Amino acid sequence: MTGQRVVVIGAGVTGCSTAYQLAARGCQQVTVLDKAHVAGGPTGFSSGVVRQFYTDPVLVQMAFQGRDTYAAFHDRVGATAGFVQCGWLLAVTAANRDVAEEGLRIQADVGVDSRWVSPAEVVDLVPGINSEGIAGGVYEPTAGYADPPGAAQAFLDAARRLGVDYRPRTPVISLLRRGADVIGVQTPDERLEADVVVAAAGPWTAGLVASLGHELPITASRHGIVTVRERGRPARPVFSDPVNLVYTRPEGTDLTLIGSNDPGDAADLVDPDHCPSTADSDEVERMLAGASSRLPSVADGEVNASWSGVYDVSDDGFPLLGPLSGIGGLLIAAGMSGHGFKLAPAIGQILTRAVLDADPDPRMHLFRPERFETGDLVRSITTSSLTSMRHDQ
Ligand SMILES: Cc1cc2nc3c(=O)[nH]c(=O)nc-3n(C[C@H](O)[C@H](O)[C@H](O)COP(=O)(O)OP(=O)(O)OC[C@H]3O[C@@H](n4cnc5c(N)ncnc54)[C@H](O)[C@@H]3O)c2cc1C
Repeated sequence: MTGQRVVVIGAGVTGCSTAYQLAARGCQQVTVLDKAHVAGGPTGFSSGVVRQFYTDPVLVQMAFQGRDTYAAFHDRVGATAGFVQCGWLLAVTAANRDVAEEGLRIQADVGVDSRWVSPAEVVDLVPGINSEGIAGGVYEPTAGYADPPGAAQAFLDAARRLGVDYRPRTPVISLLRRGADVIGVQTPDERLEADVVVAAAGPWTAGLVASLGHELPITASRHGIVTVRERGRPARPVFSDPVNLVYTRPEGTDLTLIGSNDPGDAADLVDPDHCPSTADSDEVERMLAGASSRLPSVADGEVNASWSGVYDVSDDGFPLLGPLSGIGGLLIAAGMSGHGFKLAPAIGQILTRAVLDADPDPRMHLFRPERFETGDLVRSITTSSLTSMRHDQ
């Protein structure tokens, strides 16, 4: 089936990973269209954290594949993804210890390098931490973070070397139909027919497919990031703190990046075309206070920058992957809900199999879009959902 004509809508990390993997498997006619440019959407604003803690084995395996791919990116894709293996640590309170241990058991089954650490080890891993109320941690020594726009660009460059046609500044204005099926896309200048259209347009995907009569359960919400210059900052892992609703990670030599883990952020709905570029000042204060309560040296640092990015959040907080019921020629890849960077290598592989092979990747079933009609939702703890169990019982 490598003779298929494929149009990928969106040059974020999902679209670029998919285009690369299609081309690497011999698909000759792949076109990537982006209304702006590579990583011009949320991929360009992402924190790039790559860790593997979920309580669904499929998600753990996909995150494991993501870490593995970003760590070996140069050998596999031909350029660096900027992966920094600084480790990842989840602060665990007595209230969420059972869930943490369940996650660790699943990770062990999948082969993830992770372990339980005592409060004393937490203090060793995060020098200067205020460890009050911490019962221990989940530690993934081989996790870390990477450079999302760099990775998207590298996937795209490798795809283009294999013959993929990339067209920036080319918005898809509608999907072409024949009966119930999608047969291509319309841009301002061209009618582009395709055997398969992959809709990887992030928070714009729901709008694109609305004309098909399907209302995807995806909203667009604003999520802030702030960086603080901490002179003499010690080496630290990425640190997720469900009590204070933040995660932190090192950035460069002396910056600390702080992001929000607050599930309430999903209610801050935005139009993805008009999302303010800086973080909301109240949110910046909240993130600074949250990070400082664990890492007092953050309070002595200087704010360096802040920005906002958009999450495409689905109703169960996990991606929608695969066809829409009753519609041929279209695969959805959206609703990443803040997980999309670490999952992009696996998602690209799943979509590639959906395009090229008669038998779909069995992982795709979990993310089928029609699960919202049948109520068969994805259920996994995430670092954000742990926040609802943050207080000791
Ligand atoms: C602040 C922030 C922090 C994050 N941190 C992490 C993290 O630590 N770890 C992690 O795993 N994930 C993280 N994420 C999530 C992750 O970055 C995203 O899920 C992922 O980058 C989404 O990639 P995508 O390719 O699916 O979509 P997008 O990046 O949204 O790309 C979609 C593309 O489609 C294009 N497009 C839209 N409409 C059209 C159209 N009509 N025609 C043509 N092109 C179109 C857009 O221009 C855009 O380039 C974070 C996200 C944000 C915003």
